[in-house]
Amino acid sequence: MSFNKVIGQEHAAGLLKKAIEEKRLAHAYLFIGPEGVGKSLLAKVFAKALNCEKGAADPCGECISCKKIEGNIHPDVVILSPEGKSSQIGIDAIRKIGATMSLKPYEGRTKVFMIDGADKMTEEAANSLLKTLEEPPKDTVLVLLASNMFKLQPTIVSRCQKVLFHPLGERAIMKELIERYGLDEKKAACVSRFSEGRLGRAIEVLEGEALAKRNKVVDEFLTPKQFGYEDTWLYGEPREKINETLNALAVYFRDLLVFSLSKDQGLLVNLDRAADISRDAARYPAERLERIIEIIADTQEQIKRNANIKIALACMRINIT
Ligand SMILES: [Zn+2]
Repeated sequence: MSFNKVIGQEHAAGLLKKAIEEKRLAHAYLFIGPEGVGKSLLAKVFAKALNCEKGAADPCGECISCKKIEGNIHPDVVILSPEGKSSQIGIDAIRKIGATMSLKPYEGRTKVFMIDGADKMTEEAANSLLKTLEEPPKDTVLVLLASNMFKLQPTIVSRCQKVLFHPLGERAIMKELIERYGLDEKKAACVSRFSEGRLGRAIEVLEGEALAKRNKVVDEFLTPKQFGYEDTWLYGEPREKINETLNALAVYFRDLLVFSLSKDQGLLVNLDRAADISRDAARYPAERLERIIEIIADTQEQIKRNANIKIALACMRINIT
């Protein structure tokens, strides 16, 4: 996997490759962009390039170093991500990497610390990281990955070189799905639209999980009588996944609204359920659909703010049925 294989992020990839070629590396990078657009993929290519035994700016992908990084077992490449129920990165994790940072690389040339979900650090963790950023150790590159720059402390942001990632166009994702997975045009269009410009999401969709969950949530909330108010399969999901699934539900209701106003199936996101949508749209007045979409967005906001999930979902159900 070399720099030019990261689809749709040519600018970000070019910037990192050039930094290696010109030996002008920053001590810390901040990759900013939505989930699923290639941030962690590019971070890994970058880590490989910094340690590849062939020593070229583009990693070979075949030497022991590249293979170890690919398998997440390289001792000089450390990946941190949010864990536990709170889905946060705590101070202990940051302290731990801080302690190893000052050591020399074990077997590579450059130690790479990736913090995936840097916007999920607790305040204590962020303060502790700041100290490291103020006195960056030699032969060490820090890569922070975040989808929301505004959740990071400005002092952290200002000490990192920012690398921006953009959602991909529908055509770019379609092309990739057709080439890589052999999809036909129609299926590729459906998956691409559903994934909202995120290739990672498109791959998840393809692997079935996302579409299966959308079907489950739509079927549950559009035919609510089969469940009690206090009982939904969503309770068992992690907080972030619940919001992603609620997003799929909101997009479905948005499709109902779009269809009821336009009668045009070509404008739908959920192309694979176009027949259901044209049928269900007649059941709801447009104002009702607008209201339901707002209710779902409010519920997502409450869940993001750590509201009790059961109560939030039960209220949502009462309000939308
Ligand atoms: Zn290599």
